[in-house]
Amino acid sequence: MATMKPMKTTVYSTDHGRICPECDKPVASCICRQKKVVVPAKSGVRVGRETKGRKGKGVTVISGLPLDAAALEALAKELKKRCGSGGTVKEGVIEIQGDHRDVLLEDLVKRGWPAKKSGG
Ligand SMILES: [Zn+2]
Repeated sequence: MATMKPMKTTVYSTDHGRICPECDKPVASCICRQKKVVVPAKSGVRVGRETKGRKGKGVTVISGLPLDAAALEALAKELKKRCGSGGTVKEGVIEIQGDHRDVLLEDLVKRGWPAKKSGG
């Protein structure tokens, strides 16, 4: 009990040190972080408008969708139908002709993509 050792041996407590507060597992074997990686990607969807070099109202631009090219094409097809407009997919971004930001935001949220409006 009455040892005269310096305090430094108690710095690394296994009880309070590196235990994940969410799953109560050691940080080294924590599973929370792996799960969380998916969420920011899904919530990083942005709906903006691009008018530079475009005619009229420009295009509505949807970026940040973590989908592969085929899935983007399929989604773009449905969104074009929804807006009654043309559009394209390029470099992972869906472009719909005209300003359909409000319609597309609502539609994306319904599909489980918590999109946010970007730009003006
Ligand atoms: Zn954890």
